[in-house]
Amino acid sequence: MEWETVIGLEIHTQLRTKSKIFSGASTAYGAEPNTQACAVDLGLPGVLPVLNKEAVHMAVKFGVAVNAEITPRSIFARKNYFYPDLPKGYQISQFELPIVGKGELEITLADGSVKTIGITRAHLEEDAGKSLHEDFQGMTGIDLNRAGTPLLEIVSEPDMRSAEEAVAYMKKLHSLVQYIGICDGNMQEGSFRCDANVSVRPKGQKEFGTRAELKNINSFRFVERAINFEVERQIDVIESGGQVVQETRLYDADKDETRSMRSKEESHDYRYFPDPDLLPVEVTADDIERVRGELPELPDQKRDRFMADYELNMEEANILTSSRETGDYFETVIKASNSKPKICANWVMGELSGALNKSDMSISESPVSAEMLGGLIQRINDNTISGKIAKQVFEAMWNGEGDADAVIENKGLKQVTDTGAIEKIIDEILAANTAQVEQYRAGKEKMLGFFVGQVMKQSQGKANPAIVNNLLKEKLSS
Ligand code: ADP
Ligand code: MG
Repeated sequence: MEWETVIGLEIHTQLRTKSKIFSGASTAYGAEPNTQACAVDLGLPGVLPVLNKEAVHMAVKFGVAVNAEITPRSIFARKNYFYPDLPKGYQISQFELPIVGKGELEITLADGSVKTIGITRAHLEEDAGKSLHEDFQGMTGIDLNRAGTPLLEIVSEPDMRSAEEAVAYMKKLHSLVQYIGICDGNMQEGSFRCDANVSVRPKGQKEFGTRAELKNINSFRFVERAINFEVERQIDVIESGGQVVQETRLYDADKDETRSMRSKEESHDYRYFPDPDLLPVEVTADDIERVRGELPELPDQKRDRFMADYELNMEEANILTSSRETGDYFETVIKASNSKPKICANWVMGELSGALNKSDMSISESPVSAEMLGGLIQRINDNTISGKIAKQVFEAMWNGEGDADAVIENKGLKQVTDTGAIEKIIDEILAANTAQVEQYRAGKEKMLGFFVGQVMKQSQGKANPAIVNNLLKEKLSS
């Protein structure tokens, strides 16, 4: 039997507002526990929530960026449940009328194919506090600092058919929310987390299978592993005569497995009702147009422009627009080096990105700025150094030894273009390798490479390769 995987993602993005969604308490990460939760966040008697305008603004920004319908009049609802990190007994969320309706997001897969994933809705809600299990033996600590932090929950259609597609969608969304400046994207701090709904069905069947919901996965790698494990598990259950039950499961990264947490609650279990303390949120057509005007160039637009203006292929353009910082860096290198975009692209995707990966740094932390890399490429173009020496200069710049000109000067790396000096080296090499010279003259033209290598070695890589080639050919044929 052949099986097909069906996946829908619910992604919680933490909005980058300074204060909470319904109070003036700070949203800054990392404060002493319970120093940033005020009476409103705790829902103490007698307090009233007031909606943060900036959170609404950011939600609309997202909606416009994914071509979604914006609900003209949306409302907040109370989702009732008990949990220690939710002392007020309900979470303020949106249920029937979310602020962002149907939209879509385009993803590109490894084979270059493009697929559109539907976005069902995106709604505003407040985060709960955090339970801390590690630091207390036999007890659980509660930190309510996160209570009331604004979240935008983005719900996808069950449109993905593999873990690869789910990861591509998640990455694209992760990039988009940072492009438009509504989320810092910090997954370690929980600013961007994912619940994955997974089911399987026999290939060709129309109805979806029963799904399991995998909770709170905070890395791309874990999403992929959790989905793949879960798909195998469900197929095993069905093939051995059982039935998948609808439930919430937890992914355990250490054991690389998913475990049942609880049977899935239905929405009526939450006793949703409109929050009587909050007014409806109205967004006018003018508001939407104003927000549209504020949007920066989006990832897809930037990718298309890079392909058209800089003669890059889709894959290259995707890499160079994967974040706004990468795109900006690349374009600054082009300006600073005054060189062909393709050459700049190769340096950014090659040497620079290799060095960043090795030290686990993001491009904004790079010790080699875009201006410095541009300066280096300029020195290759004007023949001050060869491409090979340039890698050595790059490494020195990376290690803080100054810009390209300083490194070239201090290390004496300037290319030798003085034909007299090169000729002298060639004469020495030819004199020391008479047998090879004979071979070349007898018709073994491949020997030229050997001589070039020797001369370059002797000059410590500094001889201009074109001059070396020409002089060698001249001397060997005379
Ligand atoms: P809930 O609010 O209970 O989590 P929703 O109906 O809002 O349920 O769906 C949540 C997510 O589950 C959505 O992303 C949706 O695409 C996905 N989903 C729904 N049915 C399935 C299914 N059979 N298989 C996989 N994903 C599904
Ligand atoms: Mg859900």
